[in-house]
Amino acid sequence: MEQSKITIQDRLYKHKLRSTSVRNAVLTAFYKVAGTALASRDIEDDLSDLDRITLYRTLKSFEQNGIIHQVIDGTGVTKYALCTHECSNKAHHDVHAHFFCVTCEQTTCLEDTKVNQPSLAQGFKVNSAQLVLSGICNQCS
Ligand SMILES: [Zn+2]
Ligand SMILES: [Zn+2]
Ligand SMILES: [Zn+2]
Repeated sequence: MEQSKITIQDRLYKHKLRSTSVRNAVLTAFYKVAGTALASRDIEDDLSDLDRITLYRTLKSFEQNGIIHQVIDGTGVTKYALCTHECSNKAHHDVHAHFFCVTCEQTTCLEDTKVNQPSLAQGFKVNSAQLVLSGICNQCS
């Protein structure tokens, strides 16, 4: 998968974030599931020595720096997924659909399925768009 080609160290460097053990550990969790969204609870389970506030701050800074993006999949839990390498510290360029599987309850990035912007009445300005499809994923079908 494209986004795995760039190493964790390169990614932190590119986004001007210092390499710390916490950042490395959190990014590793995302690399392990590349293409699948993680809730902070999933990462907490994986990294039991990490406190919740540090994890929250790390996720926020990754999001602001174009390393991960927020995924809203209708479950009510905030999830994040690894960005494609085009995302920068200023903007996310990976506006794609997500797929929620009702069987395994995993949410997957559909990077090739772009969210088309509908034409809006004058004066409306879009900041974010979410498209969530749900059903059975290719691992479960
Ligand atoms: Zn992004
Ligand atoms: Zn599934
Ligand atoms: Zn995504």
